[in-house]
Amino acid sequence: MEKIDFIEAVEILKREYSKWEAPAKRFEDAYERTHYTITVSVLLSFRTKDEVTLEAGKRLFSRAMTPYDMVRLDKEEIERLIYPVGFYRKKAKSILDISKELIERFDGAVPSEEDKLLSIKGIGPKAANIILESAFGRSTVAVDTHLHRILNLWGFIETSTPEESFKELKKRLLPHEQAGLNKLLVSFGQVICKPLAPRCQECPVLDFCSEKLVVKEGGEAAEQILEKMRFLEKPM
Ligand code: SF4
Repeated sequence: MEKIDFIEAVEILKREYSKWEAPAKRFEDAYERTHYTITVSVLLSFRTKDEVTLEAGKRLFSRAMTPYDMVRLDKEEIERLIYPVGFYRKKAKSILDISKELIERFDGAVPSEEDKLLSIKGIGPKAANIILESAFGRSTVAVDTHLHRILNLWGFIETSTPEESFKELKKRLLPHEQAGLNKLLVSFGQVICKPLAPRCQECPVLDFCSEKLVVKEGGEAAEQILEKMRFLEKPM
């Protein structure tokens, strides 16, 4: 896929976005979106479905909206509040450790600089990018499995891991072209280009997708697409 086609496909999806009932969009109204709640939600979301992350976030933030509130809870209580997110025990410890570090090093605020975020134990490059984009509106591309999968299906990139996709997209896209891409494609991946049952017959960017040739008559995704999706969704 040429870049000009990529830009056009993204513009089409932006126009369609308001019609989608995607779980990712429900975060906008579920609880107050502060730098801190966004940071904690990002940690909760890894290896966890958005529906589960959303409910866990609602329970947790009803008890603790700031790092100062959070460190008053004990680890077991945080575990209970966020269960059943993936790795909930490890995440509960990480949320407590990060909250303590925010208080001790940053007066309880989430830093907006990438190097400072990365200096906090428990925040890796992927989390830092999502936090910078979602909490601070930075023009950076936060690559998760949806972006990695969809942009490979379109043929815009040819990569094996989200990390490779991140590097490739950083090279190929200008900052303003990276902004908002995560939110848009995650919602698209939840509603239309679903990992196990892509709705190719309803896809507004079918003509841009390099997999369109294997969409069966009648519009269903052929096994070849599903195979490729399974390959691209492999745990890293
Ligand atoms: S045509 Fe199918 S596989 Fe391609 S982007 Fe659309 S839903 Fe996904």
